[in-house]
Amino acid sequence: MSDVWVERVTKSFGPHKAVADLSLAVAAGELVAVLGPSGCGKTTLLRLIAGFECPDSGTITIGGRRVAGQGEFVPPEHRRVGMVFQDYALFPHLTVVENVAFGLAGLGRAERRRRTRQALELVGLQHKASNYPDELSGGERQRVALARALAPEPAVVLLDEPFSNLDEALRADLRRDVELILREAEATAILVTHDQEEALSLADRVAVMRDGRIVQLGSPEEVYARPASRWAAEFVGDVNVISGVSRGECAETELGTFDLPSPTPAGPLQIAVRPEQLELVADSQGNAEIVDREFYGHDVLYRVRHETGRTLLVKTPSLELFEIGRRVHVRPARSAVAAPVD
Ligand code: ADP
Ligand code: MG
Repeated sequence: MSDVWVERVTKSFGPHKAVADLSLAVAAGELVAVLGPSGCGKTTLLRLIAGFECPDSGTITIGGRRVAGQGEFVPPEHRRVGMVFQDYALFPHLTVVENVAFGLAGLGRAERRRRTRQALELVGLQHKASNYPDELSGGERQRVALARALAPEPAVVLLDEPFSNLDEALRADLRRDVELILREAEATAILVTHDQEEALSLADRVAVMRDGRIVQLGSPEEVYARPASRWAAEFVGDVNVISGVSRGECAETELGTFDLPSPTPAGPLQIAVRPEQLELVADSQGNAEIVDREFYGHDVLYRVRHETGRTLLVKTPSLELFEIGRRVHVRPARSAVAAPVD
């Protein structure tokens, strides 16, 4: 059974549907990332699940109990939902331990202490228990916010862009920490982000959201390698959309032959080719020229102008570097698989 079940939920603000007939089922212990551009309705979806908004239609079930829809509306404090926000939302006048204990008011003293200690241990901040939020780093504050969300042992933890206020280096570390903490707590979690890398690297499944709807739901690998549409392909990462002709198991294009992930009816099609599915060979008679490159250390993203006039993105390991202006041959990388898109 699903721990969180959003079924055909719509929520409008005036004429605008922020969430449009959206369904999503999250299993117990699962970490689902909702990935979409700014304004697509991610926060509204979380607020509907948390009980800060009431759906116009549809139902929401948490831990087997209907909390919204069909005449039912359970207020946020009775939904067993923990929330973590981008701006931490800690109480500045309370210490770390008081912040974490805040949601445990209904429990006895011993139980409150046990859960607070356990939550602080889980996030590795026992030694900061008596500090105030302004004495902590951004990453520590976000770990306190997570401890506070987990302490009441919620049925689901909702995280709204929890890393966006942190600088890049800290973000990657905290991302991994938060994932491990959620897994150790065996929490069911929905994490909202507009960051593709974050969604792909953290989640068991990724829900790609656009204009209030989920346009694709799948494992990170599926969402990356088999985008449901051209839009999803472009949103989830760098991509080249190339015309070709299906031969069933493979597609022939002007760059060469790509394997298709599943048999596809013969005929013209467009395929989504990720930059690492192309490779470059130094060749003074080659079919392309390097026009730009971004060096990332482990790999390099090249922009190359193909003889057909189009610009392609090619990502290669940085073992061999090509100078701008260099003539190269672009071809499908060994066993490159590319999915058809509309
Ligand atoms: P996201 O979190 O993906 O950036 P939001 O859920 O915050 O998107 O917003 C989705 C859409 O709904 C936006 O167009 C936003 O302006 C609108 N919206 C959200 N909350 C309200 C509100 N309380 N009143 C009016 N419009 C809102
Ligand atoms: Mg938002």
